Amino acid sequence: MLSNNIKKLNPSPTLELNAKAKEMLEKGIDVINLSAGELDFKTPLTICNAGKEAIDQGQTKYTCPSGTLQLKEAVLKKFKTDNKLNYKKEEVIICNGAKQALFNAFFVLCNTGDEVLVFAPTWSTYIEQIKLAGAKPKIVDLKKPFKLTAEIVKKNLTGKTKIVLINSPANPTGAIIEKPEIKKIAKLLENKKIWIISDEVYEKLSINKKHLSIACVNQKIKEKTITINGISKSHAMTGWRIGFAGGHKKIIKAMSNLQAQTTSNPCSISQAAAIEALKKENNFYFKAQRELEIRRNFVQNKLKEIPCLDFSKPEGGFYFFIKLNQKNSLAWSKRLLEKEKVVVVPGEAFYKKGYFRISFAVSLETLEKGLKRIKRFVQKAPIS
Ligand code: PLP
Repeated sequence: MLSNNIKKLNPSPTLELNAKAKEMLEKGIDVINLSAGELDFKTPLTICNAGKEAIDQGQTKYTCPSGTLQLKEAVLKKFKTDNKLNYKKEEVIICNGAKQALFNAFFVLCNTGDEVLVFAPTWSTYIEQIKLAGAKPKIVDLKKPFKLTAEIVKKNLTGKTKIVLINSPANPTGAIIEKPEIKKIAKLLENKKIWIISDEVYEKLSINKKHLSIACVNQKIKEKTITINGISKSHAMTGWRIGFAGGHKKIIKAMSNLQAQTTSNPCSISQAAAIEALKKENNFYFKAQRELEIRRNFVQNKLKEIPCLDFSKPEGGFYFFIKLNQKNSLAWSKRLLEKEKVVVVPGEAFYKKGYFRISFAVSLETLEKGLKRIKRFVQKAPIS
């Protein structure tokens, strides 16, 4: 009955776990959720007000499929000031979240048989989107502390490589690709017929490290890179669904054509709010960074007290990716939920068994409770 296209999509390995957690919550059980992929802060009021004003002013109709001119101008300014990237208007597109920007990019670039290099542990959405676009994800397993280098990229290129996907800071590891390595990756790829998709959505949540966009290394690399970013993570705006991409105008045009035939434009009201976010709310993520650093240090200290867990300190984003001394992290996570009522994301969801991810985008109180329960669980049923 279903198409071959949709059959390519793998159901999420955490579906059952999430359904169970939801059921427990509905029964009123005190479940601690450490799986959040979003900040627990409210979207800043000025941004919400800009959305409300847009409604009052009647900005409630279709916009240009690739986004309003005013928002594109704000995005151009963001790229220029934050990333030293001088894109032109026709080189940017506004999408329904970075997720749609990524899907558009894969879809307009990939043909059957093309390979996309993806470095694991990785966000599973990439893998599913690449398959839906008709290409083959080539998943390369990184070793702890999961830092991508040019050497690793080089070793894994084949005649079929169409795209190299990079994500820094990374989900789920929080690892950042070091600047010299970004430059070496750029050098390695600049004369090859290979595209780069650079997902930079956690840029603003790097902790004490300045971000480098690969596209700004030189003009050649800029022309073959699609830089993906958004405001979901940086401005606590996951529900508004605004992301954006910068790249070669031919690619951006194709992405815009695809978007026009699939979702028309991103929500007009959210676009108005996003202008406010990009223009005026830059202080918000400084506050977020400070708070996240406190939480990260707190989690690090608590994790050190738990025997048999091994982890690297994340350099950005809001996740710890923690090693268990056993392969089946999905089964372990299910038992943790049953026994101690804590939700974590098992490594299976990131193509890395034997690990689990916890988010520190939740309050210190929630973290304290959750980590106490994890400690008790590990002590009762030692990992090794
Ligand atoms: N890229 C990465 C690495 C993510 O982790 C996420 C969301 O979890 C996204 C992109 C999607 O962001 P958006 O909400 O803008 O679609």
